[in-house]
Amino acid sequence: MTIKKQHFLLSASARTLSLRKIFQLTPDESFELFKEARWPQGKPVCPHCGCEHHYYLKTRKQWCCKDKDCGHTFSVTSGTIFSSHKLPLSVYLAALISLIGF
Ligand SMILES: [Zn+2]
Repeated sequence: MTIKKQHFLLSASARTLSLRKIFQLTPDESFELFKEARWPQGKPVCPHCGCEHHYYLKTRKQWCCKDKDCGHTFSVTSGTIFSSHKLPLSVYLAALISLIGF
């Protein structure tokens, strides 16, 4: 039996995050937090085909799907309402945290 990890935004660590703390995060910290919020099971999933096999393009902070019929490149915001915007990830995290009423 696998125990499903609790969604990040409902976890204790998210409840202690204030907006002030979010805006003090470095871009790398924001990225890690957004990644954890998006994929609470811990592994990025290709939004195109649902595949969990990919390699990470470190300089672009993107993943490239290894599925031979897909090969889609995706970012931490691909397939979300934030994908077409270019604001810092901390702004999106602040929006997410605000939405659920901390
Ligand atoms: Zn894919």
